[in-house]
Amino acid sequence: MSILLEARDVERRYHLRGGRVLQAVAGVSLHVARGEALALVGESGCGKSTLGRALVGLNGVSAGSIRFEGQEITALSERRMRPLRARMQMVFQDSYASLNPRRMAGDAIAEPLRIHRRPDIAARVRELLDWVGLPETAAARYPHEFSGGQRQRLNIARAIALGPSLLVADEPVSALDVSVQAQIINLFRDLQARLGLACVFISHDLAVVRQMADRIAVMYLGTIVEEGEGLAVMAAPAHPYTRALLEAVPRPDRPLPPPLAGEVPSPISPPPGCRFHTRCPIAQARCRAEVPKLREIGVRRSVACHFPLHEG
Ligand code: SF4
Ligand code: MG
Repeated sequence: MSILLEARDVERRYHLRGGRVLQAVAGVSLHVARGEALALVGESGCGKSTLGRALVGLNGVSAGSIRFEGQEITALSERRMRPLRARMQMVFQDSYASLNPRRMAGDAIAEPLRIHRRPDIAARVRELLDWVGLPETAAARYPHEFSGGQRQRLNIARAIALGPSLLVADEPVSALDVSVQAQIINLFRDLQARLGLACVFISHDLAVVRQMADRIAVMYLGTIVEEGEGLAVMAAPAHPYTRALLEAVPRPDRPLPPPLAGEVPSPISPPPGCRFHTRCPIAQARCRAEVPKLREIGVRRSVACHFPLHEG
């Protein structure tokens, strides 16, 4: 396994009025291997988008290290970052957000190719349209003339235009109908295989993640609480929060269990000890006092819990 991206002890704090500090990412370490699909899973507000943006250098970090293709990116100037941007790209939930409404699809895809002075742009645009399953005629259409799913295909074509080795996709199918979601997920899978592309797939939806991820990292209030191979984590979660997330996925064979008690606490004043203790059904005194560290409980399996549901 060759490591493409490695984050260590990454923190991202925001200083608010009144001297308050919001800790969106509170000490995250993770890695992504070449060609691998890693899902970052958690409820909204858990810091996964902030982390995702930091991984591709769109967000600064307050502390910690992010190495991409062996190079530390947290302290790079925009000028030194620019050549790396071709290698790490992002796709967002809102398929309109990164498209200029007055620019035709073909131009939108060609733009990064022009900026990076790539040859044979017209042929490359045709190839990219074909890869993402859009007809050649799509090149002369405007963003509003596409469906949401087609527009996301267009965004993906643009994101892979320069041949990146890493794609971070933030809730890329959450705004789409379920049937279209499956098509876009298949497209990500295809492109991963075709291009050897690694993908960090950010989602709150485990039903989506199940189809996409080789490996899963579950986030809660700015920290990773469990990490492991997708199927293994789904089959036997070790962290009570992961189990609660899985149980909240609707299934035809059983009624929905009661939702997790309480709201997600604010990242401005997170609970002491285990951040999940205010909602954890099996919390004990130790959980309120001592922060559980992410520790290995098996092959490629880690959990941050004093009383995991199993030990690997
Ligand atoms: Fe629950 Fe305690 Fe584990 Fe936190 S450390 S998840 S509160 S059992
Ligand atoms: Mg988000």
